Amino acid sequence: MTSQFDVIVCGGGLAGAAAALAAGRSAMKVALVAPQDPTPDERTTALMMPSVRFLRKLGIDSAFKDHAAPLKTMRIIDDTGRLLRSPPLTFRAQEISEQAFGYNIRNTDLQKILMLELSREGGIEVLNVAAEHITYKDDCIRVALTDGTQLEGRILAGSDGRNSLVRRSAGISARSWSYPQAAVVLNFDHEYDHDDTSNEFHTPSGPFTQVPLGRNRSSLVWAMNPSEADNRKQDSDADLCHHIEKRLHSMLGKVSIASDRRFFPFSGLMADQFGKGRSVLLGEAGHVFPPIGAQGFNLGLRDVSLFMDLLRRIPTGGEATIGDAFDRGRRSDVGSRTLGVDILNRSLLNGFLPVQMARFAGMSALAHIPPLRALAMREGMGPGRSPLHGAATRHQGVG
Ligand SMILES: Cc1cc2nc3c(=O)[nH]c(=O)nc-3n(C[C@H](O)[C@H](O)[C@H](O)COP(=O)(O)OP(=O)(O)OC[C@H]3O[C@@H](n4cnc5c(N)ncnc54)[C@H](O)[C@@H]3O)c2cc1C
Repeated sequence: MTSQFDVIVCGGGLAGAAAALAAGRSAMKVALVAPQDPTPDERTTALMMPSVRFLRKLGIDSAFKDHAAPLKTMRIIDDTGRLLRSPPLTFRAQEISEQAFGYNIRNTDLQKILMLELSREGGIEVLNVAAEHITYKDDCIRVALTDGTQLEGRILAGSDGRNSLVRRSAGISARSWSYPQAAVVLNFDHEYDHDDTSNEFHTPSGPFTQVPLGRNRSSLVWAMNPSEADNRKQDSDADLCHHIEKRLHSMLGKVSIASDRRFFPFSGLMADQFGKGRSVLLGEAGHVFPPIGAQGFNLGLRDVSLFMDLLRRIPTGGEATIGDAFDRGRRSDVGSRTLGVDILNRSLLNGFLPVQMARFAGMSALAHIPPLRALAMREGMGPGRSPLHGAATRHQGVG
């Protein structure tokens, strides 16, 4: 027997769980195809304020009350040791009349809260198996699951990650690339208060970024070349703590490891289209970033926001072209962020003097020209004309 839905969301990571909730809140009958991931996701996500507001409108408020740490100040420190070094840059949220730039939260906590909220929303069926085969018909999309279940939907949202089956079965190609870097990712405790401040040290092998996570606890994403990452894999906890403290110039005092350490090779991916016909690509199914500048899931939530907007405004028969409208709406934001992150990362790796001069000029201008700094802070939180801003305002009644 085939079960019928308005929307099938394939993939139950952060993007898929948020999308299923958004579609459910839009009075749609939703199937969330979400095989259980065996390992808990110990990473943390820095969510910028437009994302926080969007999630609050979806009813995810407890996440920020009980589980997340505010980011009130962000510091960038040039630790390249190069001849031409940029001045330290400090961004304070109060400079742009915000209490915080955003909140940092563990992915497992956010995922749990999203799933709990999903279970309270009528009209959403969660199926804990993977999709195996997708067939496009004139008036619907059929999804066959690995346990033999058959689903039929008017719209398909692919939130099934970087190797997306939805993307491939829709015939959408993607460009992928890699960087000569890997990140060591972990959470750690420290002796001194972080003062709600994140510190990003720019080194010749990429950023070393500490982000507040709780009282005297922070998360770390430390970019380095792959051979150094191999060394850090072999380190004892005591040696690794020593390296972290040294990189932090002891500004947080003694440190101790508070989670597993995980290693992520740096890579990027961009789909050639973000939607087509009845299907849309959300989150890493459409775009993958190296973990720099807290862009990935913030962008994924802007995908979800536009998707929700389109679902609410869909004209009769409009399901057949929702993917094309979605593609048009997401091109500029995803394209500009992908380029921005790529330039920032490559400018650090490149010791060529003209590149360093350009970096120096840009950072100095930001340090000394307050209106420019304010512009950069606002743009860093989300594009000025982001669909999130509009969606957040329009969805006042949600949740
Ligand atoms: C170290 C690190 C730090 C980061 N920090 C930040 C940050 O501070 N801020 C930020 O905004 N972003 C950050 N990101 C990016 C962020 O983590 C990702 O954008 C986000 O987790 C992607 O979520 P997703 O749901 O799109 O994909 P995924 O988490 O990959 O989820 C895809 C899901 O699809 C499922 N799936 C796969 N195939 C199928 C199938 N056939 N059928 C059904 N389901 C399927 C998988 O099981 C999985 O659950 C970071 C990334 C890294 C690596």
